[in-house]
Amino acid sequence: MAKKYEGPAIGIDLGTTYSCVAIWQGQNNRAEIIPNEQGNRTTPSLVAFTDTQRLIGDAAKNQAATNPSNTVFDAKRLIGRKYSDSVVKDDVQLWPFQVISGTDDKPTIVVKYKGKEKRLVPEEISSMVLSKMKEIAGAFLVSPVKNAVITVPAYFNDSQRKATKDAGAIAGLDVMRIINEPTAAGLAYGLQKKSSFAGKRNVFIFDLGGGTFDVSILTIKDDNFKVMATAGDTHLGGEDFDSRMVDHFVKEFKRKHKKDISGNPRALRRLRSACEKAKRTLSFATDTTIEVDALFESTDLCSTITRTRFEELNIDLFKMCMETVERCLEDSKMDKSEIDDVVLVGGSSRIPKVQQLLQDFFNGKELCKGINPDEAVAYGAAVQAALLTEEGIKNVPNLVLMDVAPLSLGWALIRDEMSVVIPRNTTIPVKKTQRYATVKDNQSGVLIEVYEGERARASDNNLLGSFILSGLPLVPRGYPFNVCFAIDENGILTVSAEEKTSGSKNQTTITNKTNRLSAKEIKRLIQEAEIYEVDDMKFKNKVKAMNALDDYLYNMNKRMKDKCVSSKLPPMVQVDINSAIVKGQNLLDGGQKPETFVFVDLLRELKSIFEPAMAKIDNGWTHEDRDEDHGSTTGPAQSIATSTRRKLKEKLSWFNKSS
Ligand code: ADP
Ligand code: MG
Repeated sequence: MAKKYEGPAIGIDLGTTYSCVAIWQGQNNRAEIIPNEQGNRTTPSLVAFTDTQRLIGDAAKNQAATNPSNTVFDAKRLIGRKYSDSVVKDDVQLWPFQVISGTDDKPTIVVKYKGKEKRLVPEEISSMVLSKMKEIAGAFLVSPVKNAVITVPAYFNDSQRKATKDAGAIAGLDVMRIINEPTAAGLAYGLQKKSSFAGKRNVFIFDLGGGTFDVSILTIKDDNFKVMATAGDTHLGGEDFDSRMVDHFVKEFKRKHKKDISGNPRALRRLRSACEKAKRTLSFATDTTIEVDALFESTDLCSTITRTRFEELNIDLFKMCMETVERCLEDSKMDKSEIDDVVLVGGSSRIPKVQQLLQDFFNGKELCKGINPDEAVAYGAAVQAALLTEEGIKNVPNLVLMDVAPLSLGWALIRDEMSVVIPRNTTIPVKKTQRYATVKDNQSGVLIEVYEGERARASDNNLLGSFILSGLPLVPRGYPFNVCFAIDENGILTVSAEEKTSGSKNQTTITNKTNRLSAKEIKRLIQEAEIYEVDDMKFKNKVKAMNALDDYLYNMNKRMKDKCVSSKLPPMVQVDINSAIVKGQNLLDGGQKPETFVFVDLLRELKSIFEPAMAKIDNGWTHEDRDEDHGSTTGPAQSIATSTRRKLKEKLSWFNKSS
């Protein structure tokens, strides 16, 4: 039975650019978005450090232009990642604040605070934003708040989820659950209720935010939410639309005033914030004015822009969004006609042109926009939060949330073979235990390397972490042990291995040791798996052939070591078999990679020499046979053995030549 929480419970949408907090209000039968002290319903996810104080939210954003190197934003892009992650490296170059590689390759933000250098990890920055949201809720409820549900993008891996949870804990929150943003949006619209009547609903979530674009297809059946597909662009959103407008006005300023502001960061930042405001206005007005006093060298910017012009400036970006929509549908193998609801999420989905393109794409279907798009995620998080409290249970319909593992999870067996324990798209939470066996005699330990991905070769996938299961008894190979993969409701993965039968138990667990992949990388891996399907099939066949040969050689070896067997074999046969074993082993251990057929043929030939010899031992070896083996007579059975032995020798000599 899951823990029940007491006291108020809030839902927090911890966004890359803006965050939002909400609480379920039983008496009104709806969630309430809680405005901050400035009256704004969303709060910038920014933290600034000055000589005298720390500022969070609007206050931090307002001073960003004058204090860029100590104003930290985009912590969500860093959370749960490594500094050496290529995504991080690319981002770091674009930010005005300093990020260095800290302990364990953790990205570490360096700022000046009260005259001293201060180093912060992304969790700390996010925790400051979360504590601000907690404070906003506390002020509204006139009592401190502890319990919260926090949302994350569907593609966040366990490391990013865990780090987000940690950020909550640092902020003094009891994080009841981490849920996916699209799932929260689906909850906000109460779409699960509709599905209770109509069976299954396919919901398309279109989330265009400040710096990221995420689309997901959810299938809601009864009260279960399942993420069927996700796609997106990690660097596409409102800020790009702002940039286009900034470029437009820089050009205009140059034309009108013969002054180039493009090299002046402060002027650019002031212009950018004016452009963001103008862009918001253009979502409900067809034109707007833009004014910035003394923008550059005491010249004011005073101009107008129409919605049409704004759309022209961004049309290629808007169209890119639609391509992603199409791709997500393709991935889900659904036709657009199968989508029951299209839900708008993210502040930028308020842009009329974006809505129009999306509606046209879905053949004129009405879009769900009853809840403000930049509030829908927090709204849904509040619904989920209420469901987890004693109070909430009475007020909101009961739901079971279901998400899926975005990539297959498994570990590397011998010969680099990926053994999938949790297949891609398995509903989580999930716990799966699989039985394996040692591959060598007297194998005292097993290296468990955990990977995510769809490729047949483990090393073509993404390595998440590894550990050793040690202390296995020194016995012949084939000794059993269990490996267990568990993903909890927050999407956090724990892998453990255990060897029970001998009584000498050994168990190790890894959690979030290394980074998982971004949505873009997940997409690439899945696409790659499709491209390399044939290659992967070939690889699997080869591993199968190699394993079969290995097993056979092992058993041959075992029988040959049995005195009762070997003593009955004519010396020539013994020599032949033993040398075949050695050659076979060399073929398996060799660095070069012969084609699969080489292993298959070799196995067939080994069998045709070994099996008749063993059959003869079982049935008794005759003198003729012994003579025959010296090549003096030719009986039908032995002629096969002799010819195959010759072929075998040819094969092995081919192998030796090619090696
Ligand atoms: P996040 O990406 O952090 O989740 P949001 O979903 O809150 O952020 O989206 C923030 C973005 O939405 C910002 O770029 C903001 O300028 C933009 N935005 C907010 N309101 C509007 C609006 N009315 N019209 C156009 N863009 C808007
Ligand atoms: Mg968002």
